Amino acid sequence: MKIVSTKIDVRNQVKEWRKEGLTVGFVPTMGYLHEGHESLVKRAVAENDRVVVSIFVNPMQFGPKEDLATYPRDLEADSKLCEAAGAALIFHPEPEEMYEEAFCSYVDMNGLTNALCGLSRPVHFRGVCTVVNKLFNIVMPDKAYFGEKDAQQLAVVKRMVKDLDMDIEIVGCPIIREEDGLAKSSRNTYLSPEGRKQALVLSKAIFAGKQMVLDGEKDTSVVLKAMRDIIEKASMARIDYVEMVDVNTMKGIDTIQGEILCAIAVYIGDEARLIDNFMLSL
Ligand code: AMP
Repeated sequence: MKIVSTKIDVRNQVKEWRKEGLTVGFVPTMGYLHEGHESLVKRAVAENDRVVVSIFVNPMQFGPKEDLATYPRDLEADSKLCEAAGAALIFHPEPEEMYEEAFCSYVDMNGLTNALCGLSRPVHFRGVCTVVNKLFNIVMPDKAYFGEKDAQQLAVVKRMVKDLDMDIEIVGCPIIREEDGLAKSSRNTYLSPEGRKQALVLSKAIFAGKQMVLDGEKDTSVVLKAMRDIIEKASMARIDYVEMVDVNTMKGIDTIQGEILCAIAVYIGDEARLIDNFMLSL
């Protein structure tokens, strides 16, 4: 496995693979990799001849008061995980390699991003769309792999690829959890031992809400109320949002039907803002 930091090195490698007729899978990440990322890399390895993983903490998708400076990084551990999972190339650029000084072109979206995380993180999805676009243009993969953990991001990227006629298949992969239910996240490292305990209310609320829907509950307000009650039991938890939306439009729904996304974002003290969700097709 190679590690490169320039766009031209990625392009040259991918061109060589293309000449040999090989297919290319791509897993974009911000690094500090865990079993969630690993599941994406393994899926990509199973479905493509060669796999590129990008590790880039993209400044453009962080708001001014967010955790860009403290976001955890560990390239050595990340490369071990990628190599063991079968990746062929890591692309690890510096911000200057991705954004030259005169940079002023953006990819943005309306609608899908005016909900959920887009409301509390107003510049986030513009940063995501722009960097994913750039990474797709650099790697030019056949397939790209995204986690359902970031369900709105997955929907946004799928929409962008359709709207802008990009010839890339977007593959969504299930949420990987800790044994006790907490969704794996690089940001879990911010949690104190007490915060880690209290963070369990996210997955508890998600599992309870999902079970209510599976048991036939159709009234959104009943499900969301039950979920809020569970989260509010944790003294450190502060709800950002607890929402039920149509996964294709991200618009709120009163009656639970069709393809739904139930998504939550919760601050645990001032330690971390965590997200979780469930999706169902009814
Ligand atoms: P990040 O490094 O947080 O930007 O995540 C990179 C990719 O890994 C995104 O597509 C995430 O949705 C995915 N991912 C992160 N955590 C998980 C998880 N627990 N299960 C599945 N996918 C995940």
